[in-house]
Amino acid sequence: MQLSIDLTGRRVLVVGTPAGARRILARYRAAGARVERVDAPIALSILRSAGMTRVDVPSLVVIADAAGDAAAGAAVTDAASAVGAWSTREDPAPVRSRGHVSIVGGGPGDPDLMTLAARRALAEADVVLFDRLGPQDGIAGWAPGAELIDVGKTPGHHAVPQDEIERLIVDRALRGLDVVRLKGGDPFVFGRGSEEVRACRAAGVPFTIVPGVTSAVSVPAAAGIPVTHREVSRSFTVVSGHAPFSDEELGHLAGIGGTLVVLMGVGTLPHLVAGLQRAGMSADMPLAIVERGWSDAQRTTVSSVGAVRELLPRLAPRSPAVIVIGEVVRQATCENAEDPESIAHAVDALAPYSDLTT
Ligand code: SAH
Repeated sequence: MQLSIDLTGRRVLVVGTPAGARRILARYRAAGARVERVDAPIALSILRSAGMTRVDVPSLVVIADAAGDAAAGAAVTDAASAVGAWSTREDPAPVRSRGHVSIVGGGPGDPDLMTLAARRALAEADVVLFDRLGPQDGIAGWAPGAELIDVGKTPGHHAVPQDEIERLIVDRALRGLDVVRLKGGDPFVFGRGSEEVRACRAAGVPFTIVPGVTSAVSVPAAAGIPVTHREVSRSFTVVSGHAPFSDEELGHLAGIGGTLVVLMGVGTLPHLVAGLQRAGMSADMPLAIVERGWSDAQRTTVSSVGAVRELLPRLAPRSPAVIVIGEVVRQATCENAEDPESIAHAVDALAPYSDLTT
């Protein structure tokens, strides 16, 4: 059975060592309780005197570890019940000279697309480093009491540089704390997760990789676009559009067939579509831009390699967006059938494929 109790402003005693009780303290503090960590003898004397004076009687006593003394724990439980306080037991946090680092993929932003392993790592974290691409609104609840460090870009501010992120991760782990580096999508898909792995290895810090749902596949899916489809596309190539492609690369991309999925490609899109056409790709090749996938503000624009440039000034697409180029785009059923803007863009730009808008 699970009960929820509002502990705001209530006195909570946590019996345990400072290191073992640290997460419990953080969690109850995050819930608004007035928390004190005490050893078992002190807990007993607080409870006994509160029993006599009835002043500031604790509401809850949490026994994390009573220095391995089961009798002391039982005595605290009895003393708590004598004054009408609830008591409970919770496992103490592991105490190690080195904490554990989890490099966690948080999926494309919707909390429902996080894995159970991601949520478990967050629930056990002492520290969470996050940025704007991963799910963020719920972090305080998923990692109650953890130190939260925003390393992402906020308007007007630069992101924390990668080497500083790595320094923070290693620093906290070497203090014995468990660290989660929460990232958007999958940590090993344009996520610099491998650089963080290298930093952990170099510092002798143990780590785990928690894969995530990558935007390369899930954001097209949010718009109803499969990256493969039998007899239409039997491969997909995921590229970063962060920097423009060379002519040689454009030749390969145009020649490979299958689906081309471009991440970080909004800025270089005009260069990409011009280059693909120069390299022989048909101007009629369908192209979709899916912005802010899995959010309430998701916008899908369906066009073609030849037509999309004209559309850009009016559309002004913004990052984060996934661009999909390939015949699979025709498989999309327009999910935003109610969104006149999305329909208009699809119809204007892709008249031959107007079935996409229905
Ligand atoms: N590791 C991430 C990718 C990081 S690169 C992953 O596996 O998904 C950042 C790029 O991912 C963005 O520029 C954008 O192209 C894409 N992206 C991530 N989340 C997105 C979202 N919710 N909607 C659209 N594009 C997204």
